[in-house]
Amino acid sequence: MKDFLRRTWAEIHLDRMEHNVNELTKLISDSTVPAAVVKANAYGHDDIHCVPFLEKCGIEFFAVSNINEAEKLRSCGCKGDILILGYTPPEYADVLEKYDIIQAAVSYEHAQALSECSHGEVRVHMAIDTGMGRIGLLTDDLNECADTFEKAAALPHIKLEGAFTHYAAADSFESSDMEYTLEQTDRFFALREELDRRGVHLKHYHCLNSAGSVFHYDSRSTVARFGILMYGLKPDISLDIPFELKPVMDFKSSVSYVKTLKKGSCVSYGRTFRADRDILTATIPAGYADGFSRNLSGKASVIINGRKAPIIGRICMDQFMADVTGIPDVTAGTEVTLFGGECGQTADDLAQLYGTIGYEIVCGISKRVPRVIMYNGEVVDVSEY
Ligand SMILES: *Cc1c(COP(=O)(O)O)cnc(C)c1O
Repeated sequence: MKDFLRRTWAEIHLDRMEHNVNELTKLISDSTVPAAVVKANAYGHDDIHCVPFLEKCGIEFFAVSNINEAEKLRSCGCKGDILILGYTPPEYADVLEKYDIIQAAVSYEHAQALSECSHGEVRVHMAIDTGMGRIGLLTDDLNECADTFEKAAALPHIKLEGAFTHYAAADSFESSDMEYTLEQTDRFFALREELDRRGVHLKHYHCLNSAGSVFHYDSRSTVARFGILMYGLKPDISLDIPFELKPVMDFKSSVSYVKTLKKGSCVSYGRTFRADRDILTATIPAGYADGFSRNLSGKASVIINGRKAPIIGRICMDQFMADVTGIPDVTAGTEVTLFGGECGQTADDLAQLYGTIGYEIVCGISKRVPRVIMYNGEVVDVSEY
């Protein structure tokens, strides 16, 4: 038995990621550079394997959330542009320079502090807050915003190469949300026009996330920041995506124990489940410490031998039980799929069951779970953390 089959593992199918990236890239024009958002360990998909693979697929621009993630990409040989989308303390200006990393300036003060701390030149994209309320210069007063921007562009020791904004509701078809997204886009490119008028010309202006790229594509955005769709999940489960999405991660385990429980027997903490007949149960060695949320207790099923086995009782830290009555050939060692791309139950489906989003499910798969990197069904490598 392969070492990674000991207990619980996550398969990362790079061929599916390649498919998603190719489909996404078809939706954008040549004026837009496709960028891969690989923050949070590539949404739990193992950045050190995803990034070199994406570079082979032709991706030359990456986005992460912080400086540790950015350094990690450089140390795995990433040659492309790396943009940090979130805050980095200005004291790290030299590190940003050393690794040739582009930093988002969250405010004018941040840009100024980076400028003061840097000994050379830090590459910067200015964040613009057109309606997310998170980071960036506010655009309420366009002239004031352009004034501040111009001041930032003139700071020594930073090289202002671009500006970006982030959509708050690009994944919604509610008419007020559609309007809101349009307003965000208008504000952003109005700022660009004003800066152009003032002679401030930057290489990059970008506003597109996954949902934006598919539903609000605008060729004026010089970069498309592909995140969740690249991993084969949806920004919102109700959306119809105009190509076949292939979920990249399969979360798997194997049965540790099968037994018959008599009618009236209880299962797991709190005795929330009581058998109303004799049942066959399987114990599965995965739990909330692996990122399989306790909130799924009594709500979800897992897939065993192609059949749905309902989870019974509470999910424990390291194990849970499923009702496998009537499912043939379940023994210790039988493979179990908790969610995946080809089993009929995606991370988005599980998310729906307890009111979260697929993003949180895949990001939440913990570091106890080895990532088994696969291409066309073959194991390429294993990451253990
Ligand atoms: C996370 C993030 C993205 C990617 O969003 P998806 O919805 O996963 O495509 C893009 N831009 C910014 C600024 C982000 O923080």
